[in-house]
Amino acid sequence: MKSETLNGVITYAPNSRDELIDFAVKHQKILVAVNAEKILHATDESRAIINRNLGYPDGIGAVWALHKKGHKEVVKIPGCELWLDMVKKHHNDKSFYLVGAKQEVIEATVKQLKSEYQGIHICNYRDGYIKTDEEERSLIEDIKNQQPDMVFVAMGSPRQELLMERMQKQHHAVYQGLGGSFDVYTG
Ligand code: UDP
Repeated sequence: MKSETLNGVITYAPNSRDELIDFAVKHQKILVAVNAEKILHATDESRAIINRNLGYPDGIGAVWALHKKGHKEVVKIPGCELWLDMVKKHHNDKSFYLVGAKQEVIEATVKQLKSEYQGIHICNYRDGYIKTDEEERSLIEDIKNQQPDMVFVAMGSPRQELLMERMQKQHHAVYQGLGGSFDVYTG
């Protein structure tokens, strides 16, 4: 898949959702949403996070910038839809781990996923309010034991990206940062 540097922010240029999902699965990447705000107001930290990972066009401004650079076939891929596309595509052949949001929201998310996707394999889940290093260590230990194929982390940026990078070092998988998507999903 091609990529482009937009104001120093490396943004991939997928022509379809399937292309992005297959690329992320093949290369076991951390997916990070890129929008106009993240391009125009990138800080050294936010830019470095995106550039170490797989930034994809989650907003129309990023799509427009990629079109202008000649990537005419690029489509917008909202992160809040992408994770459900991944679940839809892979619920029969991959396992998932979910982290983020408040306890009642993550519980409702898991319940809803199980009722919408029969046979879905959710290894485990926990809320996103991780208060101590010890709690984080035991979460990552659990992820290493459970060996999920895909890990969704909904804790807001850059908290979720930094956590996913620490997780990825100990367990290779596809990771996606989701912001408030569990709240939206369970609405
Ligand atoms: N959140 C969390 N842990 C925290 C702080 C926030 O899990 O320490 C959750 C919060 O409950 C919400 C999600 O992060 O479900 C998204 O937060 P926000 O709207 O700030 O993120 P954005 O979508 O703007 O990146």
